[in-house]
Amino acid sequence: MAFLEISHLKKHFGSQTAVKDFSISVEKGEFITFLGPSGCGKTTILRMLAGFEAPSEGSIVFDGKDVTHLRTNQRNVGMVFQSYALFPNMTVAENIGFGLKVANMPQAQIDARVKEMLALIKLDTLAARYPWQMSGGQQQRVALARAIANKPKVLLLDEPLSALDAKIRVSLREEIRVLQRELNITTVFVTHDQEEALSISDRIVVLNEGSVEQIGTPSEIYNFPRTRFVASFVGTLNQLHGTVVDVQAGTIQVGDQILVSTNPVNGLTAGQPCVLAIRPEAIQLNAPSDGKNMVQATVEDVSFLGSIVRIRTRVGSDVISFDVFNDPNQTLPARGVSVSLSFAYENLLILK
Ligand code: ATP
Repeated sequence: MAFLEISHLKKHFGSQTAVKDFSISVEKGEFITFLGPSGCGKTTILRMLAGFEAPSEGSIVFDGKDVTHLRTNQRNVGMVFQSYALFPNMTVAENIGFGLKVANMPQAQIDARVKEMLALIKLDTLAARYPWQMSGGQQQRVALARAIANKPKVLLLDEPLSALDAKIRVSLREEIRVLQRELNITTVFVTHDQEEALSISDRIVVLNEGSVEQIGTPSEIYNFPRTRFVASFVGTLNQLHGTVVDVQAGTIQVGDQILVSTNPVNGLTAGQPCVLAIRPEAIQLNAPSDGKNMVQATVEDVSFLGSIVRIRTRVGSDVISFDVFNDPNQTLPARGVSVSLSFAYENLLILK
């Protein structure tokens, strides 16, 4: 049995089903992210793990112990919310030591643990400050220290970075990952931000309307999305509409071109419409080619972004966008001109 076992979890709110049938096994020390759009059920699953919400069906097991019907304080979980949720009338040190005090830890041990936590989050000098005297990023580090101070079995992070500025968000997410690895805490992280999920997770669970679309490592999710939803929700995706020519050979007709993919044509038959999913980085502009896996496109827009240049083109009714590196010695295509776009076989995904 894995460290965290969630089996057939369901949650209904009246006639509405927020979580349909959710199961996952998580190993000790794994960093799992629930990723999906607003309303997909990710927070509801996290709240059931925390004990804030009772499942309608299913079970939750932490380290061999069934916690499905236990109260939050009997589950040994640490939790961090988007809104920091620090106690405003307590100092940083008091906030971090709060859970330890509730657990009746002797004061000397509390002081030692708080000191250790302050060093871990690099806020040693701010122990006597109050939350309102600190930045959002600092407050969230305190919330993190408070959540891990009594060594929880599972750390639950509910969009902890969403309220922060872009720069702080990136640096704090790196800090969280380093800390989580160092302490080897099994962690469940909720976000709607695909870049955040890709950068921080061991595995990602992509959720849509209460159901799992795909579970996989960041590179599996990004490179081999199993559904059109995953492909378009995670990363930038171009979609070329075509028709299946040959299922075995992985050939697709797009306009008057035949494109070949090394990826199987899942669940489709010859003659059916399909979508070719193409990541921007799989596209080459005017590359020397034997004419295979190539389409003609018309340039619609060229935006200079510094180190890269974003080019938007049109192929029939589809828009294909991609970036090229800025090269001062190279002339960029002008709007309205015709260019050829070629694609690597292994990067062409065919979706229903
Ligand atoms: P967000 O990112 O917006 O928080 P989410 O993916 O976390 O979205 P949930 O908060 O889990 O989604 O909500 C899933 C569904 O369940 C939504 O349709 C929501 O309206 C519904 N829901 C959540 N909590 C309740 C509740 N207490 N009563 C009724 N419906 C609820």
